[in-house]
Amino acid sequence: MNTLNQITFLLFCLVFLNLTYAQNSKDQARSTIVVIDPGHGGKDSGATTRKGIKEKDIALGIASKIVVLNSKLVENPLMLFLTRYSDTLISLNDRTQLSKKLKADIFISIHCNQAINRTASGTEVFIYPKNEVQAEESAYLGFTIQKGLVDILGIKKRGLKYGNFQVLRDNHDSRATVLLELGFLSQTDEATYLSKEESQNAIALVILQSIIKILGV
Ligand SMILES: [Zn+2]
Repeated sequence: MNTLNQITFLLFCLVFLNLTYAQNSKDQARSTIVVIDPGHGGKDSGATTRKGIKEKDIALGIASKIVVLNSKLVENPLMLFLTRYSDTLISLNDRTQLSKKLKADIFISIHCNQAINRTASGTEVFIYPKNEVQAEESAYLGFTIQKGLVDILGIKKRGLKYGNFQVLRDNHDSRATVLLELGFLSQTDEATYLSKEESQNAIALVILQSIIKILGV
């Protein structure tokens, strides 16, 4: 997506989000607690691009932008918390414990992928539901986010999958829990795309917009 398209998209979202909130009840969203989990951190860099950009920084960049957009574009409709706000390593257990303590309704873990096959590309979304409600709502959230990433931003679709990740497996209480693999840092075009501030802003908007959409407000 070129810069002009990115700007057009941001403007579209600004209008969309404002209209959505003008027309509907804000109360449900305001009482919804969302935990965003930027993957990795500190000495755990996660995947790395050939230029040395680290997955932990991309994940934190996108998560931080969701917080900013939530406050600037839509006047804090969601109660958003991050599992980390800086470059620190948080254990997987502490990430789910935070979600549990906050009684989070929605938990979203943000990651980027890598593969030995440098042509592998696209976004995949993982769920690991423990009950019927979590299965239904996690699939809906995951599907909605992936549809936005694919249809609006043009990222290749790899599908919605079951993934036995600890942050999903140990998260019993949230209504919807998903782990996003946004793209492959081992693939040159996706590495370049995911490293850019404007791309991270666009992805942050898709995620925020998707949360708002699944709340049905
Ligand atoms: Zn990761």
